[in-house]
Amino acid sequence: MALQRCPECRRKISENAQLCPHCGFSFNEADLAVYREKLEQRRLYNEQLNRQNIKIQLIWLVIFALVIGGAMWWNS
Ligand SMILES: [Zn+2]
Repeated sequence: MALQRCPECRRKISENAQLCPHCGFSFNEADLAVYREKLEQRRLYNEQLNRQNIKIQLIWLVIFALVIGGAMWWNS
């Protein structure tokens, strides 16, 4: 009997299984389409989060540069 991995919980399940016995993931064509949609949304959400993180890091970099610059100006 061949085994495949559940895309949701990554556990091995029977190739013939229509449902993952561990997490209930369904292998029906319609459900897979919904699943791909969800994955795409998650990917977009993560991209958005990454963009926000980059912005926050840039802001911290600017603050850090200002503090260092201010300290150097103070000492001179
Ligand atoms: Zn599963």
